[in-house]
Amino acid sequence: MQRKYVTFSKNVFIPLTDACRNRCSYCGFRSDAPTIMGRDAVLELLRRGSAAGCKEALFTFGEAPEVYPEIKARLEEWGYERVIDYLYDLCLDAIDMGLLPHSNPGVVTRKDLELLQDVNASMGLMLESSSPRLCEEGMPHEKSPGKLPKARLKVLEEAGRLGIPFTTGVLIGIGETEEEVKESLQAIWRVHDRHGHIQEIIIQNFRPKSGTPMAGYPEPPLSRLIDALEYARELFPDTGLQVPPNLNPGRMGLFLRHGANDFGGISPVTPDFVNPDDRWPREGHLRRAAEKEGYRLRERLPVYPGFIAFVPERLKTIVASYVDKDGFVNAAR
Ligand code: SF4
Repeated sequence: MQRKYVTFSKNVFIPLTDACRNRCSYCGFRSDAPTIMGRDAVLELLRRGSAAGCKEALFTFGEAPEVYPEIKARLEEWGYERVIDYLYDLCLDAIDMGLLPHSNPGVVTRKDLELLQDVNASMGLMLESSSPRLCEEGMPHEKSPGKLPKARLKVLEEAGRLGIPFTTGVLIGIGETEEEVKESLQAIWRVHDRHGHIQEIIIQNFRPKSGTPMAGYPEPPLSRLIDALEYARELFPDTGLQVPPNLNPGRMGLFLRHGANDFGGISPVTPDFVNPDDRWPREGHLRRAAEKEGYRLRERLPVYPGFIAFVPERLKTIVASYVDKDGFVNAAR
């Protein structure tokens, strides 16, 4: 397929809570003294995002944070049993400001997905790897029940049954083999083949974080990323495909030449709270990188143009107010 565009989404990133039931060896996000953002703090971020022209409210947080009594107590104080119910109301707040929620709720049930579908333009969950070997003793997911491939693939499957536009991907460089990367992408493809709901695949490279058990672990060679990218493009000729540009400064053009067609979410107001050392590139930088390779940079919504028909009723008016006839953000906005 001859592509003409490279896309990105302008988002405001809300790191709702750093409490997480998992303990991935490379994670610099979760905390042993966890906190959860109150509604006022979330509203403030949403306001800043809206004022800066963001269209996407990206909600990311640790999995099942209620396992921490202090987080459960805060939620109860605010009238919620679970973070998912709190998130639902915050998504409504975002929608009131004209922002389109994209939530990454971790491993959740079909019922939770159904609830969140009502207030999200799209949702996401990284598969990371389909290899159960990475959950064995001494491996990075040993203490992360939520990283069991079966559990994550089940979420992808349920999202597909419900028709939720979905973003997923693989994490490269945490001890998996090249064959396992291919198997992971094949596993995503099988779910997509059944339901047609995967709008975007992220090929994410491991970056060591200080203070984590994998702080001294080497980053994967560039060739591993290129191989994964090319294989993903072979399997998914029409799907959004990106390698996070803030984790790979100077490599954007290279990735476009090897199959990428998206730069992911870029925020003009918030850092990448999961990779705080890696700053987002500016929009002008993305534009120059795209044009150098012969592409036009287009802003997209958190829901890709081909999936706009999937958005819930309550979001349709907002979506229609943003897009042109091709489903990209109207250049005048
Ligand atoms: S699931 Fe995410 S937030 Fe939780 S420990 Fe793993 S990487 Fe960190």
